Amino acid sequence: MSDALVGSLYVVATPIGNLEDLSPRASRLLGEVALVAAEDTRHTARLLRHLGVSPSLISLHEHNEAGRVEQIDRRLADGEDVALVSDAGTPLISDPGFVLVRELRARGRRIVPVPGACALVAALSAAGLATDRFLFSGFLPAKGGARRGRLEALQDHQASLVFYESPHRIHNTLADLAQVFGERRLVLARELTKTFETFLDGTAASLIERLASDPDQARGEFVIMVEGAPPREVNESVQVESDRLLECLLAEGVGVKQAAGCVARLLGGPRKAWYARAQRLKDGD
Ligand code: SAM
Repeated sequence: MSDALVGSLYVVATPIGNLEDLSPRASRLLGEVALVAAEDTRHTARLLRHLGVSPSLISLHEHNEAGRVEQIDRRLADGEDVALVSDAGTPLISDPGFVLVRELRARGRRIVPVPGACALVAALSAAGLATDRFLFSGFLPAKGGARRGRLEALQDHQASLVFYESPHRIHNTLADLAQVFGERRLVLARELTKTFETFLDGTAASLIERLASDPDQARGEFVIMVEGAPPREVNESVQVESDRLLECLLAEGVGVKQAAGCVARLLGGPRKAWYARAQRLKDGD
């Protein structure tokens, strides 16, 4: 069979609240494909009814995803187009679809993104936090110890941090954020694109007070964003000591790369920066 007769998998973003956010292209494709693989078929059936289209529907969720690969691959091989959707937003972003897309791509199938709503991008686009670099960490662990461990591992990142959170855990998570991030600025985006959309801004402690004084603010869906850590200033005495150490290693015949690696292990910080410093010292700058 020639490639022209093989179907495509369309990865289709659906609204995260406001139905007007479904793109005309997504709407057209959902009416044209032979099959829609959906996280929850009942949920997606409502969207399809709203669009007035009725493709076949199968479920695809974390418990059956691996088993669906062959089935969907056969439909593509038969020349049918298939759409993958999740309950809300962009599939694969804290939603099912990764196994399917990885396997089909490995088999050389055509996979086409149909972009649209995504809660993390919507939240960041209006939060007023730096977006040149951000780190999306999905849902935090449900257990307190593991959650604090994850937050501590991220506390020195200079990129803005983005998390998804459910209303059941928002209080505990804010308490852990207060413990780990102290006075750092947070933005809480709630119910994006819906009637009660709100952005709250402040330290974790101030947001805890805000939610306590207005319990409605603790309802719905949340994206939590945390301002990145300030750039680390190398204090002067550390600079002098680290230069001495690098010079000593270089004088002993240790290579620039190894010397930089050794100092990075001892003092932390990016190897690249230590490499550049060691090279400058070697060149006598
Ligand atoms: N795939 C989705 C996306 O593209 O954003 C995310 C799915 S994930 C299972 C659901 C989580 O996304 C929610 O618990 C919440 O953290 C976030 N979320 C989804 N819709 C949202 C909304 N309208 N407002 C705020 N957060 C939302």
